[in-house]
Amino acid sequence: MIALSLAAFLATSQTPAEQIIELSKEENRVMAHLRELTGTIGGRPTGSPELQRAEQWALKKFQSFGFKNAHLEKWADVPVGFQRGPNNWGKILKPTPHDIVFSTNCWMPGTDGPKRGPVVLMPKTMDDFNQVKAKLKGAWVLDDAKVGMRGPDFSKEDANVHKAVTEAGILGIVSGTPAENVWTHGTWKDKTFEKHPTTVEIQVRHEDYVELDAAARSGKLTSVEFNADNHWIKGPIEVHNVIAEIPGTEHPDEIVVLGGHLDSWNSPGSQGANDNGTGSSSTLEAARLLMKSGLKPKRTIRFILFTGEEQGLLGSTEYVKQHAAEIPKVSAAIVDDGGSNYENGVSGLAKWGPYFTDSFKAMTKAFPDMPMAFSPVEKYDASGGSDQASFWAKGVPSFFMGKAGTQQYLHIWHTQFDRYEEAVPVYLKQVSTSMAVVAFNIANADTMMPRP
Ligand SMILES: [Zn+2]
Repeated sequence: MIALSLAAFLATSQTPAEQIIELSKEENRVMAHLRELTGTIGGRPTGSPELQRAEQWALKKFQSFGFKNAHLEKWADVPVGFQRGPNNWGKILKPTPHDIVFSTNCWMPGTDGPKRGPVVLMPKTMDDFNQVKAKLKGAWVLDDAKVGMRGPDFSKEDANVHKAVTEAGILGIVSGTPAENVWTHGTWKDKTFEKHPTTVEIQVRHEDYVELDAAARSGKLTSVEFNADNHWIKGPIEVHNVIAEIPGTEHPDEIVVLGGHLDSWNSPGSQGANDNGTGSSSTLEAARLLMKSGLKPKRTIRFILFTGEEQGLLGSTEYVKQHAAEIPKVSAAIVDDGGSNYENGVSGLAKWGPYFTDSFKAMTKAFPDMPMAFSPVEKYDASGGSDQASFWAKGVPSFFMGKAGTQQYLHIWHTQFDRYEEAVPVYLKQVSTSMAVVAFNIANADTMMPRP
């Protein structure tokens, strides 16, 4: 009896934020979610079988936390799917054998088995082309095109020469990034299962490019082999957002949206861990903590794992269309998609500050090394960057959670380095707790957030 009343006393003396924080400090599971997602599924581009598995995985996670309303919402059919198989390698065989780290964009052809050949420099003019023509068949063509996050940019080249080269029986084109990372991007737009690009485009790290270039120029026999295990999948492939919610007790029709995107890129080696396995796992853990806490917000908290984000916020754009009637009642939309660093707050119009103050105060007290603050700004713009932009476009107070910490996110972003081991457990514990606290306090405020 005494124990019970003491527990009751403690429960009532704590604010909801303190209750969530205490529960999280006892049993936060964000890293377990992330390990499952990255270890059993890995990279998951929208339209890949891996994303379909991830949707089912997230649905089952929500259900296992007790969400009876968890469900998938279809937002599109992808006309042609893409899958990167597990067998990817690159090797320099001569003069000194060693491995090459490489990537290709998604929805680009693979090598259809290992392809070995000499390296020939990309001709610049038709005269050059005619001179090397005989050597091109069965060769890898080394191209000095600038490589950015979206892949090589061939636009500065003579289009006729480029076309003649791709029709000369080459194995593919190899370009070098300016760094030690290789990126992945791409889209299914304008492609079908039957009609799609046929030239293999490989990007390698700067140091490997320099070595290949020097060997090719010196006339030393250079032989390289690539196996790019890329596959096209006949569509249509259904893609979904994954949704679950805690219904509001007083204003169930008023909604706080909390989420991140479940889809990712998948360059060889990448697991889509930090972009945005971290935001997805933190959303799941925030949902689990809130459900387990038994706290009942006045307004509905809707957890959404968006897909199609990497192809241009497609899943969230369709979500706000499909839910157009509800949008005026969305109090706020909050997205975490900044990698594995801790959440350090948000900026926004001054009138929104009070909706965050108590949360940030409680979080900073509980995690003093990771202070959170609201930064008022005169002109606020939440467009671009991630899925909050789709809500912002409809006039919803929308927030991309700010990040700080030691993770060098730009080094990892869309590269082979986006792996579980790059995630920072102490930060993600804070992130998942913060998401739960912030969403609860906004959902439990006296009023909806005022419109911008
Ligand atoms: Zn992202």
